[in-house]
Amino acid sequence: MKDALEKIGQRYSRQREEILKLVLSTDSHPTADWIYEHAREIIPNISLGTVYRNLNLLVDERKINRLVMDDGVVRYDGNLREHHHFICTKTGKIIDIEQPLAENILEEFRKKTGLNASSYKIEFYGSSEQPTQ
Ligand SMILES: [Zn+2]
Repeated sequence: MKDALEKIGQRYSRQREEILKLVLSTDSHPTADWIYEHAREIIPNISLGTVYRNLNLLVDERKINRLVMDDGVVRYDGNLREHHHFICTKTGKIIDIEQPLAENILEEFRKKTGLNASSYKIEFYGSSEQPTQ
């Protein structure tokens, strides 16, 4: 009995490990469908429900972040460093921006609104294609 439970436990943690690895393997901010497609190559009998459940657990454990895009699509982000996003309006590609921006923006925000913000995120939109000369 104990062995059987241990086996089930191991299977669950292996699934979670593989899903975490997939999210960390790309900077494309994948959807659950993308993760499911790739997880199936490693664990053929995994279900989409299992993928969702593990993604939720990984978000709860703060090992990955969940992003809800403007179009309502949910994506997952393995980059836990503080960063902003540039969203290409042509391709939908999301690019991580890690450069510090507007250092005193929090101070300015507090002064203008009286609200005590401690962090911020900015989403930039535009075309990621190089501007033509
Ligand atoms: Zn990101």
